[in-house]
Amino acid sequence: MATIPTLGAGRTATRAQSRELLSSTTYDLLVIGGGILGTAVAWTAAQSGLKVAMVDAGDFAGATSSASSKLVHGGLRYLQTGAVKLVAENHKERRALATDVAPHLVNPLTFFVPVYKGGPHSAPKLGAGVFLYSALSAFRDGMGRVSTAAHAAQQVPALRTAGLRSVAVYGDHQMNDSRVAVMTVRAAVDSGAVVLNHAEVTALRFTGGRVSGAELRDRTDGAEFGVDARLVLNATGPWVDHLRRMEDAGAAPSIRLSKGAHLVLRRRSPWRAALTIPIDKYRVSFAIPWEDHVLLGTTDEEYTGDPAEVRATDADVDQILGEAGHAIRDEHLDRDLITYTFAGLRVLPGGPGETAAAKRETVVTEGRGGMLSVAGGKWTTYRHIGRTVLEKLRNVPGVGLSEDMADFPRTVPLPGVGAPNAVAHRLLVDREPGARMEPLVAKHLASHYGTFAFDIARLIAADPKLGEPIHPDGPDVWGQVAFAADHEWAYTVDDVLRRRTTMTVRGLDTPEVRSRVEAFLAGRGEG
Ligand SMILES: Cc1cc2nc3c(=O)[nH]c(=O)nc-3n(C[C@H](O)[C@H](O)[C@H](O)COP(=O)(O)OP(=O)(O)OC[C@H]3O[C@@H](n4cnc5c(N)ncnc54)[C@H](O)[C@@H]3O)c2cc1C
Repeated sequence: MATIPTLGAGRTATRAQSRELLSSTTYDLLVIGGGILGTAVAWTAAQSGLKVAMVDAGDFAGATSSASSKLVHGGLRYLQTGAVKLVAENHKERRALATDVAPHLVNPLTFFVPVYKGGPHSAPKLGAGVFLYSALSAFRDGMGRVSTAAHAAQQVPALRTAGLRSVAVYGDHQMNDSRVAVMTVRAAVDSGAVVLNHAEVTALRFTGGRVSGAELRDRTDGAEFGVDARLVLNATGPWVDHLRRMEDAGAAPSIRLSKGAHLVLRRRSPWRAALTIPIDKYRVSFAIPWEDHVLLGTTDEEYTGDPAEVRATDADVDQILGEAGHAIRDEHLDRDLITYTFAGLRVLPGGPGETAAAKRETVVTEGRGGMLSVAGGKWTTYRHIGRTVLEKLRNVPGVGLSEDMADFPRTVPLPGVGAPNAVAHRLLVDREPGARMEPLVAKHLASHYGTFAFDIARLIAADPKLGEPIHPDGPDVWGQVAFAADHEWAYTVDDVLRRRTTMTVRGLDTPEVRSRVEAFLAGRGEG
């Protein structure tokens, strides 16, 4: 069995030890669901001194939180609905993440909104929009403005120029969502939380009619165990009503789901900026340089199926390529360039109306048995959501959590914080004599791990085989697999290839790579 850390950096526990830890004490708070919302609450609660447990049925961020558009953004299109305050708040969180919390993982990106002859928006309207957008973050990312088609085509050679009048330009940020999520799990653990992935809640425990814990099944080996807690938070995203029905079989639906699919394509030319492509008066589609590829999407369509089965269908692929084709030349949208497709589910407040027009709000409800449920909202504002939910938990009558909670600092950096350029430089110059690291590998490690790149370099120095590439076409090395298994709760091949690294997304998870990673994980041995 692979070892996983549950006791803080440097200390690890096997899954059996984690189960023992989880089942042997009463926690102040049990968080069900280790997507970014659950993780945010676990982190905040642990920082305030509460004894916190967090479990996920699959991998941390294995559902919606690794299926996003990877944007840390204010939300330009919300301006159309007059949501000026919301955009300003989103910008504030975006800036905090990019400058103080995760400058090593959240990167600035320029966006062009192309204005075509006969398109849904005029240049003056878009120009005013991006100006207001940038003003709402005090022009800290430059001033939103209108620029020429020639400038845009030079930055993004794939841009379709026929009929292109101009582009509106603004600044936002992007991230690798899975890696920010796992670093946030690590932050929660460093603050004292006990966590376990691949552990599914199968039923809730009740004491005197109140929810007082949960029954769990370890999906890796079928072991059953339970967790007791003074308060239980349901942060299961698309499954939120499923858990609410465990609390109260008659609970009415509280949410609707909307599917959003994405494609990842190899690129044929450099992309120095992203495109925000207006599809109609309200909807946009994105084309974003990401992980040396281009990310296209997304769709927005009501979904009523099983959340575990959500996939990008052929129809989604057709729609996304068709919409990208408004602004991207055909040769850059060849189906052969697609390396990966994925889909996630937006959780929207229940009620009538088009899902595309519904507000992306956070819904917090309290059930009959006192379980709080949280769903919806944005990745960008996860810390804000964490704080808001914690305030609600503090005030749940009869539980008295507030007596055990201390004030906590509002801005705490994620582990591994460090300037990627400086980290990459040190990896190249500080190396052990005889141990040479390729500049591309150094850059890759620094920009995905921050200062934990030094830990991976130490693993490689101790065992040079770990410095070998996993696939000849990528900068990923075996040291990352070792680090994922020992320090990032990676237990399955997909944990490693899809989320701790992005090899699957980049089309590098060949059957051979998969079986070698599987053998490596098995060989990591008992903890
Ligand atoms: C297509 C799309 C694009 C998006 N793009 C952006 C963007 O660019 N920027 C942005 O800011 N936001 C974006 N968002 C929003 C953002 O991704 C979500 O708000 C966020 O990921 C929601 O996280 P969550 O923790 O609520 O849900 P999830 O990540 O789905 O987590 C819920 C977890 O609960 C677990 N679970 C379920 N049942 C059980 C059980 N019985 N026992 C234990 N665990 C269980 C699941 O395994 C899952 O991991 C996007 C959303 C979508 C759908």
